[in-house]
Amino acid sequence: MQLLDGKLVSEKIKAEIEIEAAEFLNQSGRKPHLAAILVGNDGGSETYVASKMKNCEKVGFKSSLYRYDSSVTEEELINKIIEINADAETDGLIVQLPLPKHIDPDRITETIDHKKDVDGFHPINLGRMLRNLPCFLPATPYGILMLLKEYKIETSGKNCVVIGRSNIVGSPMSVLMSRNDYPGNCTVTLVHSKTQNLKKIVQEADIIIAAIGKKNFVTADMVKDGAVILDVGINRETSTETKSGFKLYGDVDFEHVAPKTSFITPVPGGVGLMTIVGLLKNTLASAKKEIYS
Ligand code: NDP
Repeated sequence: MQLLDGKLVSEKIKAEIEIEAAEFLNQSGRKPHLAAILVGNDGGSETYVASKMKNCEKVGFKSSLYRYDSSVTEEELINKIIEINADAETDGLIVQLPLPKHIDPDRITETIDHKKDVDGFHPINLGRMLRNLPCFLPATPYGILMLLKEYKIETSGKNCVVIGRSNIVGSPMSVLMSRNDYPGNCTVTLVHSKTQNLKKIVQEADIIIAAIGKKNFVTADMVKDGAVILDVGINRETSTETKSGFKLYGDVDFEHVAPKTSFITPVPGGVGLMTIVGLLKNTLASAKKEIYS
């Protein structure tokens, strides 16, 4: 078993991004700039946004955080997004999900200028992804692709099972793993809560991508020997063992599953760190107008 080490790979790619950000600053007189909107006080969201902002600073990007109370109206958010869309010196805009119930996430996502949609959630980017055209890939699937590339994981002709069909992870991941490219060219099965015989399907997988949000969902008896596992899940549990007061678990029962695998991502230290790299890469590409002019 070998770890797919998100820490190692993310640090390496961030060092490359830092060099490119410095070159961009030299040429344009400004830093690549990511704006984030955070609504409410959800513990997980706070942590993710703080980490995204911190990583921006680390690689020499400018970051701006706009915080709103959970009572904010949809119109207020829409107006802010329109204002940021029009700002020539903001390259990327993300709105941290989930949003309070009274706000329609689809309306918010579609208001973001697709040329600044560095989370890759806008229908234009998702449609372009489907056609294998230049676009901002959703940050988590993009991060997973980088990890597979870095470890030169063979994907062509493999059975890949993606567990979970969310718009932000499972669904785009299934598209990317099946497209005619590397990493890709897999035979992909996308399973979800209505799937029958899920265990049997997962047992056939050469590559398992778990994005469900349930601790220890993937158990050792579901995994064939030598499988490659990417664990997207981030399940927070309160803990007295850590300084932060909580502990993170993936969707995979790492302790029992890892010995059977050829490659596996740990949680924490795997896909989550690569998601941030995906976001930084998209922001840099936006600043440099590499995708849209
Ligand atoms: P969602 O809750 O949007 O989707 C979960 C998916 O899992 C759904 O498609 C659901 O099926 C499926 N599912 C739930 N229960 C079962 C079950 N018993 N059997 C089969 N399928 C099931 O989650 P996200 O995709 O947003 O996130 C998934 C996990 O990944 C979470 O832990 C989240 O925190 C984490 N995450 C991590 C990121 C990272 O950077 N590492 C980034 C984003 C998310 P159905 O559609 O039928 O309801």
